[in-house]
Order: sequence, then C-alpha cells, then structure tokens
Amino acid sequence: MTSAALPPSSVTVRVPAKVNLELLVGAPREDGFHPLVTVYQAVGLCDDVTASRSPGWTLGVTVPDWIDPDAVPVTGDNIVDRAARLLAEHHGAELHAAVSVTKSIPVAGGMAGGSADAAAALVALDRLWDLDTSDDDLLRLAAELGSVVPFALVGGTALGTGRGELVEPVRDPATWWWVVVPSDAGLSTPAVYRRFDELTPDAPAEPEEARALLLALATRDPVILAGALHNDLEPAALDLRPDLADLLELGEQSGALRGLVSGSGPTCLFLAEDADAAREVAGRLSEEHDVVLVTNGPVAGAHVVTYA
Ligand code: ATP
Repeated sequence: MTSAALPPSSVTVRVPAKVNLELLVGAPREDGFHPLVTVYQAVGLCDDVTASRSPGWTLGVTVPDWIDPDAVPVTGDNIVDRAARLLAEHHGAELHAAVSVTKSIPVAGGMAGGSADAAAALVALDRLWDLDTSDDDLLRLAAELGSVVPFALVGGTALGTGRGELVEPVRDPATWWWVVVPSDAGLSTPAVYRRFDELTPDAPAEPEEARALLLALATRDPVILAGALHNDLEPAALDLRPDLADLLELGEQSGALRGLVSGSGPTCLFLAEDADAAREVAGRLSEEHDVVLVTNGPVAGAHVVTYA
C-alpha cells in the first residue's frame, strides 16, 4: 500500500551566481531592453533560500560580514517578495511562508544575486506549497521576474538570447577556476547600460553570435578560453569605476590568465589555469583586497538541498 507523501515543513534551495563568459549587447529595443547574446556560466558562489511553513508572510536576510546588510531590501521590495507573489497569483494560492535568504553572492556586483534568490524562491515555495509547477511555467514566471532568473533555474553553462531570458544549455565539459573580487560599493545595472548607450551609439540591432567562445569551451584549454572571454559592458563599467582597471591589471600580473569585469560590474573575475593557480592569484590579490574568493564552474542551477 502506498500513501501520498506529506508536503514538507521546510525546504532549502541553493542557487549559484552567474558569470558572463561572453556578453554581446545590441542597441536598445523598442521596449527599452537591450538585445543580448551571452554565454552564462553558473559558478559555486551560492545563496541559500529556506522557505518554512508559517501562517503569515515574513522575509529575513542574513549576510556575511563583507556584505553591507543595508544593501539588501527586506521591506517588501526584495525580489523574493515579488517571486512569491507571482507564484501564489499564478496558482491562486495564499502567500504564507517564513522565508530566509542567506547571501554569499555579492550584492549589486554583476553576478545576478537577486535574480538567483528569485529563482530559488520559486523552487522552494513550489515545493513547500506542493504546487507541482511545470518547468515551462517556472521558466515563464522566472522571465517575468528578470532577464537572468531563468538561467539561475537552469544553471550549468548556457547561451542566453533575447534580453537574456531565453536560455539554451551548451556543451562545457571542463571545470574552470575563477578568482572573484567583489567591490565595497555596487554598480547600478541600469546606469551601466545607460553609459554603454552613450559610449556605443553604433551598437548593432542584433548582437553577433558567440561561436568562438563556444568553440573555446569545447577545447577545455583555459588559455584558449582566456583569449575568448569578452564583455561589451566592460568599457562602460570601467568608465564609471576607473579604479577597476588597476585591479584587472594587478590580477593579470599576479598570474591570472585573464581579468574581466563580471556582467555590469563592479565585481572582477580572474580566470586561472587550475585550482592551485587560482589559490596563488587569490593569495596575491588578498594582500591588497579584503575580500577575494575562489570558485569554479559550471555548477548546477537552483536545487533543493534540504527537504524536511
Ligand atoms: P545583475 O547582474 O542581475 O544585474 P547584480 O548582481 O548586479 O544583478 P543584485 O545583487 O541582483 O545585482 O542586486 C541588484 C539590486 O537588487 C540591489 O541593489 C538590491 O537593492 C536589489 N535586491 C532586491 N532583492 C535582492 C536580493 N534578494 N539580493 C540582492 N539584492 C536584491
């Protein structure tokens, strides 16, 4: 005899940050969004989102000592609130849960931490409320919440098109090692795109294809990948934060194969030859920067780690 499993009282979902191995940006569309061709990679810096049974709705955020707690809204403006409302409305369900977000992804750093939390909240609440939302519906709700939210569900390495919300997994058979240097002050993504528009009046209506980057991934050779990394937003981010150019140079002088601004910045990424090289680069950068992280990718998208 079988019995239906009881819905859980608490679900924790782990969700990764993203880096853009290639980010090609076109001229703004009529709806104001920029068309993108990007290759996302999910890396092992993760936030955890826990949703527990509760008669009302509460949201708490915990940050490590290097993240400013005031940088993350907790008063209804958090993207997790929006994700929860959207999922509840989609099913005609009531909004009741106690949600806590434990952050490790830099805030306003160009690593899509908010988008990651939204994706994790969709998955955690879907399980907590026993909704059985289809993958297609989850991806559609994710795209409503933000252009990078669908990728946070999918994870791995993926080609992103449209405004970044259309994601298609791509072959990426290696493990790549990254050194990540967050910045004390964040950069506003819309401000970086505005500066991109000013600096690039001749941006194409449709960005090119990312073929060279995809071929580089298949070689598994970090030197080849280093040569193929590209971010169209980097000049705009460096224009707003000229100090980042010194950091990129320091990382490359410290043995990184390549330094790159992450998405809209200001977090900087350094591709290293392997795990040992990453630790060496991180050691040297730590002499001048308080927070230096080592991680690798690709890793899985939003996934349940505790179901109780
Ligand atoms: P992206 O790379 O997607 O442009 P980002 O990594 O630069 O994003 P986020 O960390 O997602 O930036 O934060 C952008 C803004 O979103 C922050 O300034 C913050 O006020 C707001 N925000 C809302 N919810 C969250 C959340 N759960 N975590 C972090 N920031 C959040």
